[in-house]
Amino acid sequence: MMDCVFCQIVAGKIPSTVLYQDEDVLAFRDINPLAPTHVLIIPKKHIPSLADITDDEAPLMGRMAGVANRLAREAGVSESGYRLVVSSGEDGGQIVPHLHMHLLGGRKLSARLC
Ligand code: 5GP
Ligand code: ZN
Repeated sequence: MMDCVFCQIVAGKIPSTVLYQDEDVLAFRDINPLAPTHVLIIPKKHIPSLADITDDEAPLMGRMAGVANRLAREAGVSESGYRLVVSSGEDGGQIVPHLHMHLLGGRKLSARLC
């Protein structure tokens, strides 16, 4: 999937500020941060969106949430609060077609979800 920007980040072909990685999961800073803490947590495997995840792959979402919680603690926003966002498909507002979770924190976020 070398036309996929996040696969290129996984492969190291596009530079990114990596905050965490293991065999299956990568986390890096969003290039256009919407909050003081804005991290993207992705599976290393190319899965286009949440809608495409199989039952076998579903535990990855829990792993990604665990990584997000760990990074929230490291960023010092665990107690002040933060938001995890997964957009899926066109109406969901997903732009990059590689499953990702946004970790947003470090400021008071709107109570409105959309
Ligand atoms: P989406 O709108 O698909 O949920 O979010 C995609 C996110 O990826 C956006 O917040 C955007 O700023 C981020 N992004 C897009 N291209 C790059 C890139 O090349 N590097 C990094 N670090 N983030 C990117
Ligand atoms: Zn990809």
